[in-house]
Amino acid sequence: MNCRNFNKRINRFIKKDLSTRELASFLVHLKRCDECKEELSIKYLVDKSIVDIDDDNDETIDRQHKYDFNFRLKELIKDSEDHVISVIKKNSIINMLFIISATVYILALYVLFF
Ligand SMILES: [Zn+2]
Repeated sequence: MNCRNFNKRINRFIKKDLSTRELASFLVHLKRCDECKEELSIKYLVDKSIVDIDDDNDETIDRQHKYDFNFRLKELIKDSEDHVISVIKKNSIINMLFIISATVYILALYVLFF
């Protein structure tokens, strides 16, 4: 992902609206591009300070960190990373199960026909 694509996806990242694939390349770019990291912090700050003013009942925001936008952005990035990692793990388990069942199937054919 380049900076232009990254910037186009910032709003959807903040709304947790990126697909896992998009999220993964978004996070990779974020790790290595300081300009985009800065851009994300600014947009996050603007977005959250507008939204949260009339959003006092949001129980998901812990009070202590409600106005600590840096902290909340870090949490969002960490949660996103955890999400991507858990999807990758789940997919590799599914792939492994597929390989095992394909192997069993081929062995069964072999036993039946040879
Ligand atoms: Zn960038």
